[in-house]
Amino acid sequence: MKILIVNAGSSSLKYQLIDMQDESTLAKGLVERIGMGTKGHHECKIDGKKVVDWNEAPIENHVQACQMMLSALTDKDFGVVKSMDEIGAVGHRVLHGGSKFSASVVIDDAVEAAIEENIPLGPLHNPANLQGIRACRAVMPGTPMVAVFDTAFHQTMPPKAYMYGVPYEYYEKLHVRRYGFHGTSHRFVSKRTAEFLGKNPEDLRIITCHLGNGSSLCAVDKGKCVDTSMGITPLEGVLMGTRSGSMDPAVVEYICNNEGLTVSEMLNICNKKSGLLGISGVSNDMRDVDDAATKGNPRAQLARDMLVYGIRKYIGSYAAAMNGVDAIVFTAGIGENNYKLREDVMQGFEFMGAKIDVEKNKALAWPNVHEAVVSADDSKVKILVIPTNEEIAIARDTLELVSK
Ligand code: ADP
Repeated sequence: MKILIVNAGSSSLKYQLIDMQDESTLAKGLVERIGMGTKGHHECKIDGKKVVDWNEAPIENHVQACQMMLSALTDKDFGVVKSMDEIGAVGHRVLHGGSKFSASVVIDDAVEAAIEENIPLGPLHNPANLQGIRACRAVMPGTPMVAVFDTAFHQTMPPKAYMYGVPYEYYEKLHVRRYGFHGTSHRFVSKRTAEFLGKNPEDLRIITCHLGNGSSLCAVDKGKCVDTSMGITPLEGVLMGTRSGSMDPAVVEYICNNEGLTVSEMLNICNKKSGLLGISGVSNDMRDVDDAATKGNPRAQLARDMLVYGIRKYIGSYAAAMNGVDAIVFTAGIGENNYKLREDVMQGFEFMGAKIDVEKNKALAWPNVHEAVVSADDSKVKILVIPTNEEIAIARDTLELVSK
């Protein structure tokens, strides 16, 4: 079966067509500047080559974006399918499933309504995800669709891990709690770790470190999430590209009062102008921050130190939460590609039985990135690099659900 993966943003639509026979990517594309009134952009790559690079008229809405995607996929010259009918199902990435979804689901009107109900929890992403779903359902009415939620894997957390210490009524009335994100990646990577080590997930306590532009850590005990660093929104946790990560909430009021900002203006700063970017003043991209730090920029060095220190603290606390740890796994843009950061994060963890093999770890320097154990042979705790693949995870869920 060929499965189309769709990730809709408020003005964009990313897609990938996967052949489930060998899980190969047949086509990958991006429609941008949807509904912005300016010229839209559509690019589609097949076998890594751009077959569409379109920048012409404005793109009115997500329905039009879906039509553009389908006409590229079915193009008679370069298309990868003869007709839409060859696409067996569509898997949609959805940010917030709230407490309602602990697994992926086949989309029907009730699921659409539940995603809509979760808009207050995911105000930036859920409306856009929903637009993508509605547009695809309109354009491909006979094709089954599945929603895969970023929050679902974390639904197994116990209340002591997901509750915030504010009055209980806010949980009851407003559903205020930790939800966690990147769940599809943490699930994929932790499951793959068990397979790679030839172990049963039931016998493993794993800490997965998804370190990208957005970063989160997850404690996975016996295959289930027991804690994660992101919260009611993706703002909580370690320092990220542009997000502050955790801090005393009083910082928000203090800065608002002194700078004449509203809470939402301040939260926008915490989400978009903080983190590596805000501290270093250089960039949100770790490569630029690393370069600047190497050249002696003290704020870039500080940003890097804060990130490393933050990750180390979460690793220590999750080891405590699970009464130990068997594997620590690095994934996503920074986790997979930045060997030096892995080396620095794992310094001095011998007290806990985790010892990195500096040479093995360095051998994985970009572009030689692949699944590997990078801990020393005598390390009790395995340290691994497992590249994440959220699209494949979404495609597998979709196939499983529509085959039932
Ligand atoms: P997103 O959260 O947007 O999916 P990614 O997982 O792509 O982000 O991670 C982006 C981060 O990964 C950036 O900080 C970037 O510096 C880092 N990164 C990506 N590729 C490399 C590379 N080849 N070497 C070092 N760092 C990289």
